Amino acid sequence: MNKLAEKPGLSDDELLRYSRQIMLPQIEIAGQLLLLRSHVILFGAGGLGSPIAMYLAASGVGKITLVDPDEVDLSNLQRQIIHRTESIGHAKAISAKKTLAELNPLISVRVINSVLTEMELEKEIRNADVVVDATDNFEARFAINAACVKEKTPLVVGAVIRFEGQVMVFTMQDDSACYQCLYPNQEELEESCSQTGVLGSVAGLVGCLQATEVIKLLVNIGEILSNKLMLIDALNLEWHTLKINQDPKCAVCAK
Ligand SMILES: [Zn+2]
Repeated sequence: MNKLAEKPGLSDDELLRYSRQIMLPQIEIAGQLLLLRSHVILFGAGGLGSPIAMYLAASGVGKITLVDPDEVDLSNLQRQIIHRTESIGHAKAISAKKTLAELNPLISVRVINSVLTEMELEKEIRNADVVVDATDNFEARFAINAACVKEKTPLVVGAVIRFEGQVMVFTMQDDSACYQCLYPNQEELEESCSQTGVLGSVAGLVGCLQATEVIKLLVNIGEILSNKLMLIDALNLEWHTLKINQDPKCAVCAK
């Protein structure tokens, strides 16, 4: 008898579907059960959110809440691979849910296609195990960060522009820094890919790194990119990692 089949908690379908990651000694059945019992809230179903949502769904994260108030536009399809041409003009969150349901009908996906108030945001984040920021504007980033600090929910942030990407993780435990520590001035020049352009596959690269950090956090394995900023230059294929120190004067996380 297959050793895996003796373990309780997973159906035969699940054992087969997730078998290639259950084989990994860092995951095994116990890790898969952790994934299936996890709830991830993902902000943004765009260039970063597409691969994040698809890999988290495929790997069996049991509950995913997808938040995106936008609609699919023709100019999105070059990088936002969760959407299809037929979805142009439809809500991104709903279009993304359709793809995820086709990819893995065994998990549950909830969609929010509106902008959340501060109280709603805090409530949603309180109910999640990990929060993923795949948005494209600083206002949303700062609001998500503040709610994660308040609720002590781990946050995985990604950003992408041109051929460049950034990934950072804040566990929000103990001496964790936060996104605001990195950008104390909210008046930072706001650049977006609608003005400067972005290569779709670079968004995929950054999104895949975020999805990997989420899975590591949920299963509690490996070395998390905690209090660190990874900078990726895909044009020259170079990357380096910087330490992020908690700002003792941070308006959001300082005690
Ligand atoms: Zn801070």
